[in-house]
Amino acid sequence: MNTPSKQNESNSMRSITERSRIFAALNELHLKYRNLGEGAVADYIPELARANPDWFAICAVTPDGQIYEIGDYEQQFTIQSMSKPFVYGLALEDHGRDAVLQRVGVEPTGDAFNSIIKLDSSNRPHNPCVNAGAIATTSMIKGNGPTERLNRMLELFRKYIGRKAYVDMSVFMSERTTGHRNRAIAYLMLNFGMIENEVEQILDLYFQQCSILVTCRDMAVMGATLANGGVNPLTGERALDANYIRDVLTVMYTCGMYDYAGEWAYSVGLPAKSGVAGGIFAVVPNKLGIAVYSPRLDPRGNSVRGIRVCEELSQNFGMHLFDALLDQSVGCAPDKTPAGSLPEGAVEVGDQATSHSINENGCASGSANAANILNSVRR
Ligand code: GLN
Repeated sequence: MNTPSKQNESNSMRSITERSRIFAALNELHLKYRNLGEGAVADYIPELARANPDWFAICAVTPDGQIYEIGDYEQQFTIQSMSKPFVYGLALEDHGRDAVLQRVGVEPTGDAFNSIIKLDSSNRPHNPCVNAGAIATTSMIKGNGPTERLNRMLELFRKYIGRKAYVDMSVFMSERTTGHRNRAIAYLMLNFGMIENEVEQILDLYFQQCSILVTCRDMAVMGATLANGGVNPLTGERALDANYIRDVLTVMYTCGMYDYAGEWAYSVGLPAKSGVAGGIFAVVPNKLGIAVYSPRLDPRGNSVRGIRVCEELSQNFGMHLFDALLDQSVGCAPDKTPAGSLPEGAVEVGDQATSHSINENGCASGSANAANILNSVRR
């Protein structure tokens, strides 16, 4: 029988090995896909075309604040549609479930993110992840005038990121001056009574929301905040009322990847959201926030490398939500990953040893003092 100190020692050894495995797996995937040149950088918002197509970062953050990151993880880019579930959460907090459901549904469309015509029989946009639904959701942010609404939105993102949030003015102006399709969607919804009169103000706020600057690490922290029941693992601050976590993750699961949502649910099996600047983030409840940044997109507007990395991570670590039903399930748990499931060639990196504990749920208490252990490689 192990004495308590032997037990602690072995737990600590195990957690060093687990950290090494996660880090090695991210490292391996970064190496594997860093030369993949498929896809094209978005240019329908002209400023987005300035991104370097080769930028590539992968990050994972646990609910107890461990950070794993590889590549260009400090490169800033705009959040774009990855903002949509977070603003949906704010609308739910501001108005409650029933009022929000009257303005925007929860049904996948199977259509492109910027589809114009698809409103349901009550004239609602289908879900908060397509542009029509997101514009309707943004229009519900409470506040006395555009500045207060903008400030409330920035405050929301501050809580999720754990630092002050900023709008990229060039991207904002670029989309504002060219976003006629979104303008058409908004006026169509005005016609159907789904948004109020102040269409240009609503569009400005929507374009500002899409132009918030993030890094890959920020997105993984935001994912980890949702994985942690709404509490930011780095600051201990609550970003989303626990009552609405389920709503936000459900629409991400069913609608987050647009017309790839079904295939994504089948092959990756995690709530996720992509953005046209090249970010994708995914949530493993109670376990992990994952983010990938790579600006080359497929025809549906999802990052090519981002999809490949998430698919492999999910398969290799048994992260699909229904893997929990398998006998040898690893139950979405990096800490239960069998060594054999690592990507071929993955090596253990043994230099991240730091003593550290996870509670019995594998979930941090949200303490502001949570230790952040950085496992980083910049290539
Ligand atoms: N701002 C972008 C738009 O409305 C967001 C789209 C996206 O990231 N899929 O077109």
